[in-house]
Amino acid sequence: MVAIKRAKNLKFIQEWNRSIILNTIRHSGPISRMEIAKKQGLSPTTVTSAVHDLMEMGLVKESGVGKSSGGRKPILLQFQPDSLSVICIAVGHTSISMAEMNLEAGVKQKRTVPVGGRTGEELVDHLLQSVELFLRSDGYAGISITVPGIVDAENGIVRYNERLKLRDVPIKKLMEERTQLQTCLENDTNAIVLAEKYYGSYKDCENLLYIMIDDGIGAGIILRDSLYRGRNGGAGEFGHTSIDRSGIPCNCGNRGCLEHYAGWLGLYARILAYIHRGRITQMLELAGGDPMAITPDHFLIALNLGDELAEELLEEMAVALSVGISNILNILDPDAVILGGELAQGNERLLTKVNAQIAVENIHGAKDDILVLPASLKGDYALTGAAAVILQEIFRVPG
Ligand SMILES: [Zn+2]
Repeated sequence: MVAIKRAKNLKFIQEWNRSIILNTIRHSGPISRMEIAKKQGLSPTTVTSAVHDLMEMGLVKESGVGKSSGGRKPILLQFQPDSLSVICIAVGHTSISMAEMNLEAGVKQKRTVPVGGRTGEELVDHLLQSVELFLRSDGYAGISITVPGIVDAENGIVRYNERLKLRDVPIKKLMEERTQLQTCLENDTNAIVLAEKYYGSYKDCENLLYIMIDDGIGAGIILRDSLYRGRNGGAGEFGHTSIDRSGIPCNCGNRGCLEHYAGWLGLYARILAYIHRGRITQMLELAGGDPMAITPDHFLIALNLGDELAEELLEEMAVALSVGISNILNILDPDAVILGGELAQGNERLLTKVNAQIAVENIHGAKDDILVLPASLKGDYALTGAAAVILQEIFRVPG
């Protein structure tokens, strides 16, 4: 019984008339039935009947009256974002964040569980079990999961994640079998670029690029208002574009991959090498004298303290990133490039240096007016990303 009710929520909203009318109320509410009919070219009977269904579902409520244009004052309708919840899951390399969110990506409750070094099948079991324990009722419209690595979103399969040892794992199918809830799966950076567009400051950008700098480097690409995933879900592997053909060998088979120069794992390897050679840095002090305990936070704090090694690394990072970004600008000519992720969030100096460097490299190009901009979503942006994926699906008007 629960299973049937759960599966129904999503399908109900996606019926064509309801979905058009619900979206009109979401974007233009409070609004009267007559205005909706006029706006969408629908008959008043169609609108009345669909609104009746939406009200029964709790998605829409009558709230107040509008101005009269001669006759009776029209009753206004308003969207009720708390009427249903979505379950959003952001799988990371060290933790799994879960949240119950409303239909406007607002967090109702959340929980984080550690990955605890689990990989492969053990990690998948841990994920399924953690989500099952997190579910409280059956008033959910669905589940959205984001995972780093190569994701086949259409079939709901994680194709490849080296660190979590995931290869061809049908997460969508496994989660649906376990919870009876319709599930979407997406790459984490793709989800975040969607969130920046729908819930951040980049609503007007048709072509948008989000570069995520944490352990590695990935990119989420929106072209003409839609995610661009590539043929196998492998688009946006920006960290594995080479910026130096005679550079550091990478286990992807390439040489001089960008993430060795600007991602945390590459940066950290260089910090260790410098310390090994006797270089003094405040990063070591901040980590209590243990080089193995140095974190991205220590690097960012050391930068603010004016640490010489951190400064040098920031400079190298900015140069490497600007080479990579200039290449992408020449291919995609996007409306905006966003720099986000652990090493970029709040790191204004990196942004300034990257912009200055790009201006030098692109001086004769048509792209000299573009700015690399900061991420606008703060806090739980990975969860907002997961929410953006499923909410886009829920409110999509069927073609
Ligand atoms: Zn590589």
